[in-house]
Amino acid sequence: MNLHEYQGKEILSSFGVRTQRGIVVNTPEEAVEAAKKLTEETGTGWHVIKAQIHAGGRGKGGGVKLAKNLDEVNSISNDILGMMLITPQTSAEGKLVNQVLIAEDVYYPGDSEPNEFYMSVLLNRASGKNMIMYSTEGGMDIEAVAEETPHLIFTEEVDPTTGLLPFQARKIAFNLGLSGAAFKDMTKFVTALYTAYVKSDSSLFEINPVLKTSDDKILAVDAKVSLDENALYRHKDYAEMRDLREENPIEVEAKAAGLNYVDLDGNVGCMVNGAGLAMGTMDLIKQAGGEPANFLDVGGTADAQRVETAFGIILKDPNVKAILVNIFGGIVRCDRVAQGVVDAYKSMGDKINVPIICRLQGTNAKEAKELIDNSGMEIISATEFQEAADKVQEVLQVKA
Ligand code: GDP
Ligand code: MN
Repeated sequence: MNLHEYQGKEILSSFGVRTQRGIVVNTPEEAVEAAKKLTEETGTGWHVIKAQIHAGGRGKGGGVKLAKNLDEVNSISNDILGMMLITPQTSAEGKLVNQVLIAEDVYYPGDSEPNEFYMSVLLNRASGKNMIMYSTEGGMDIEAVAEETPHLIFTEEVDPTTGLLPFQARKIAFNLGLSGAAFKDMTKFVTALYTAYVKSDSSLFEINPVLKTSDDKILAVDAKVSLDENALYRHKDYAEMRDLREENPIEVEAKAAGLNYVDLDGNVGCMVNGAGLAMGTMDLIKQAGGEPANFLDVGGTADAQRVETAFGIILKDPNVKAILVNIFGGIVRCDRVAQGVVDAYKSMGDKINVPIICRLQGTNAKEAKELIDNSGMEIISATEFQEAADKVQEVLQVKA
């Protein structure tokens, strides 16, 4: 589950990571009030207005702007709120900005060359360890740094059983070229950041930029945080941070129905039981000359109700030209699933406007095929994997 920058910063602060101070708002009036409050608390006269969307590269897209007085806070907030912000990480139409973060300006005018670093904490699945990635080349496109000057990106692996050791924190501060007070503050920063990552059950923390101010303080100016959804049950307060407006509405509906659904760009909808078979089915569709419109794992209990919900969700995607049902009956019997498909088809009537190819294999597969073939409905049955692929190809050709 992804968070907004302001939420990520809240979590960081709660673990003692110094962050750029800010207040999230919904209107230009609130923005001005927030700016006044920040001036009282921090003494800053300048503020940055930052669009809150689930995508990075906002600066490049015009979603991060400096305001030098309250009039500018008002007008810039007015411009950014409600805009469709296009960044290198959004789709071509961009993302609607519902909220902006009014933040203190932390780049002091006297700074000829602000020191912007990059730092992230994530899991290295290959080694089974956590990993801190960091670089002196912060603020800009870290992907470009990785491509053009990979030697400027360092990694420090952290054994989860020992945690981050003091010498590792010092090594990181040293490699970033720091000394004196900034060196000390960086070791504190990294240590707190690592603790926050572990204690919040996150799968990613990415802070770009981490800033060294001219008075040698280290702080997080940006925060990209992804939480591990499987651990949300023990972080009720984080679970409430979910912003459904940022998520694909069909995926949200599928999740509520207990289905594992991922929206894709293709033309063949699929309904499969089991994630592995779902992956295999997507390959099959590609081989048949189609493109999968989705990944959908209906799980073990493919009864009529579930099948109907799944059909409904697949058909919300206007690109779907055919649906391939591919179920392996192990514990769940194929005839039960076939009955589910037939019942769902009956109750949905003309809502189903694309051909359905149904492959049921495993326990009671023969009975299932008979049920489908004798249902009098336009469901094309198949038994073998290849046969199903050929039939998908056929219907796509007829459609084309
Ligand atoms: P991103 O573009 O989505 O990664 O958003 P960031 O939060 O990283 O902000 C983009 C850029 O805005 C940063 O790299 C900074 O250069 C700049 N920026 C952020 N905060 C401040 C600030 O307080 N003052 C000034 N002058 N620039 C800032
Ligand atoms: Mn950033």
